[in-house]
Amino acid sequence: MKKYKIATIPGDGIGPEVMDAALSILRKLENGRDVSFDFIELSAGDETLKKTGSALPSETLRGIKQSDVCLFAAVGETAKDVIIPLRQGLDLYANIRPAKVYPNVPHIGKDVDLVIIRENTEDLYKRVGFQADDWGVSLRIITRQASERIARFAFELAKKEERKRVTCVHKANVLDNDIIFTEACRRVSKEYPSIEYEETIVDACAMKLILKPEHFDVVVTTNMFGDILSDEAAGLVGGLGMAPSGNIGDRYAIFEPVHGSAPDIAGRGIANPIAMVLSVVMMLKWLGELELSRILENAIVDVLKEGRVLTPDLGGKAGTKDVSEAIEEKINRKGF
Ligand code: ATP
Repeated sequence: MKKYKIATIPGDGIGPEVMDAALSILRKLENGRDVSFDFIELSAGDETLKKTGSALPSETLRGIKQSDVCLFAAVGETAKDVIIPLRQGLDLYANIRPAKVYPNVPHIGKDVDLVIIRENTEDLYKRVGFQADDWGVSLRIITRQASERIARFAFELAKKEERKRVTCVHKANVLDNDIIFTEACRRVSKEYPSIEYEETIVDACAMKLILKPEHFDVVVTTNMFGDILSDEAAGLVGGLGMAPSGNIGDRYAIFEPVHGSAPDIAGRGIANPIAMVLSVVMMLKWLGELELSRILENAIVDVLKEGRVLTPDLGGKAGTKDVSEAIEEKINRKGF
């Protein structure tokens, strides 16, 4: 029996709602299979700050380090004091953000199936800067080492997933530190002659994502550009309710939906859990549970194909729990 210790951080707003859905589905996946999940709930976020005086208590960090993997839902205002320190402190240098068109999901993205690989530890997110009364400075730190590491990650992913093209997205025509990034990508590309390599300036990329999104396969870019472009890509394929992600390092990994705590819909039971559940699919793949990840993704696709149980963001009337129950029913009924 394979046993996995999974740290869970429900967080704030819709976080606990989508986390409940994910955990209930994981319990269903355990049934009758040679696998078991031990969930360790950890706290972080706005409510945790109110209760403990810290948005990211040291026990939470310790709990993640003692687990095989972490599932993170969403935190509110304190995101910069939670997820950014986690990414940097655990050296989760690669942020994988896929954008894929699923059946029956209202989208403008034609046949999009791309993945954005965002460098996750430096750039403006190092938060090195100064602020005075009427001016502020944020240093945009880009190093050769981190750039090469993320470029290699992108090419390795392209190789593993049999993807054809890697696009390096930058602003090296204006920003000197992006010359370091593009040169690193170019150098690493030479090690992968069978994968097509190209470079695109970030503003042109933002436009091309709308006009010709099917062109993109793997996009590798710096932290801030990756953050913005991945929300744009999510918009192409049905919005944030459909956008999963993984933060990957050499030792630890945290999987989380791209969305935040969505205070505008929190507590109403209508959040789309699919971004969270697709993050579980990514987590299962990372754990090496390929069969389970396939079963879960197929169950999601079946629910979407039927188009009966959809949350309001996808044009339906169903609630979060209805969607997770529909996915569970598919897992059951197929007798996978
Ligand atoms: P935060 O301050 O936590 O970042 P936010 O509202 O600024 O919250 P998001 O939480 O990412 O940012 O939400 C952006 C928009 O997308 C909101 O209108 C929200 O309702 C919607 N949204 C986000 N996640 C979902 C979801 N899972 N299901 C449905 N709508 C969602």
